[in-house]
Amino acid sequence: MGRSESLRLRAEKLFPGGVNSPVRAFRAVGGAPPFVERAEGAYLWDADGNRYIDYFGSWGPMILGHAFPPVVEAIRAAAARSASFGASTAAEGDLAELVVSIWPSIEKLRFVSSGTEATMSAIRLARAFTGRKYVVKFEGCYHGHADGLLVKAGSGVATFGIPGSAGVPEETAHFTLALPYNDEAAVDAAFLAHNGEIACVIVEPVVGNAGCIPPADGYLQALRRITEREGALLIFDEVMTGFRVALGGAQELYGIRPDLTTMGKILGGGLPCGAFGGRAEIMDRLAPLGPVYQAGTLSGNPLAMAAGLATLGYLREHRAEVYPRLERLSASVADGVAATAASVGVPLTTNRVGAMFTWFFTAEPVRDFAGAARCDTRRFAAFHRAMLEAGVWLPPSQFEAAFVSTAHTDDDVRQTIEAARQAFSAAAS
Ligand SMILES: *Cc1c(COP(=O)(O)O)cnc(C)c1O
Repeated sequence: MGRSESLRLRAEKLFPGGVNSPVRAFRAVGGAPPFVERAEGAYLWDADGNRYIDYFGSWGPMILGHAFPPVVEAIRAAAARSASFGASTAAEGDLAELVVSIWPSIEKLRFVSSGTEATMSAIRLARAFTGRKYVVKFEGCYHGHADGLLVKAGSGVATFGIPGSAGVPEETAHFTLALPYNDEAAVDAAFLAHNGEIACVIVEPVVGNAGCIPPADGYLQALRRITEREGALLIFDEVMTGFRVALGGAQELYGIRPDLTTMGKILGGGLPCGAFGGRAEIMDRLAPLGPVYQAGTLSGNPLAMAAGLATLGYLREHRAEVYPRLERLSASVADGVAATAASVGVPLTTNRVGAMFTWFFTAEPVRDFAGAARCDTRRFAAFHRAMLEAGVWLPPSQFEAAFVSTAHTDDDVRQTIEAARQAFSAAAS
């Protein structure tokens, strides 16, 4: 028995499904997930000493690659000054100034410890600010696992075929309206049907949690126009896209100013960290200034602030090299595998925005969750297993985005395309 396998058998006794977050269990692709021992740059090593080129990057945060020395050093230095105080620090202000300088839509923010907390708190704030109850979200978008947001929620939920989740009262889900993404008319219709009752529209401006789905031309502009007209807040959930599709996220890329923005993943440089922010007039409704309660023992944690500062500081200082490099590497691997598939007659639709992409196993364009759901997930599963076997670790579900980091090289890309070529021809024979 390999070490990964014995660790997995132990984990299955200790954790439901052997994991602490469901998609890690590989249920959508079959096979046993390797246990990771360490990672450096673009590579992961499992407990049996196998090396993998990493295309899931801890689900998004590791944009500078694993164990990036300035980040490691920042965490080490912060840890030596104590892991937590539960009191205000200069580092919180330093990271907040950096965030505010990157996102023109944000005047004030609050740090939390996860993306889930960020979206949950942003929605509470939007409801309080508008005095309305309904929330519009989109099918296939995942905004963390708060009760009211687990409605048609993409990735993990789609992977397991659970419509929403058990344990969420109907009365809670009742106030969540899930509409098809990239369908402006559906948003207009919802506002007509719930006139004066919709507090906010929350969206992944580039969907990542149903696989990568870019916004259609003018779609985000339409969401901005409609919410403004109706007095509802527009929340961009940039937990995945923030600092990823551009330094200033999707709002910079598409030129939109949302009312509230949620962040996570890259923000903490691999440590647990999230944030939500926006105009001061809205943010000042939070306790202790206002009536909206929100708190966290580890919010603004010094290690997370240090890792975030090192990560965002590097990204901002080197943005002129980092983002073009990510674009180039990401295009070459995404398009290279797509061309290989085309050459052997495997139907594949490649969606990509910067260093975030998905190979959908379908010949049809994927513009919304219904389109993603039509993919051949069995074929994806076989592809995933063959790639893992060849030392390439892709996200283990058709409904997840893959990521490239600055640590990936042209050689990694070549190896990945070669592995895909073999996976496709093995499947064909
Ligand atoms: C990952 C993610 C979340 C949830 O963040 P956690 O830190 O896992 O709670 C929320 N929204 C989006 C868009 C995400 O990708």
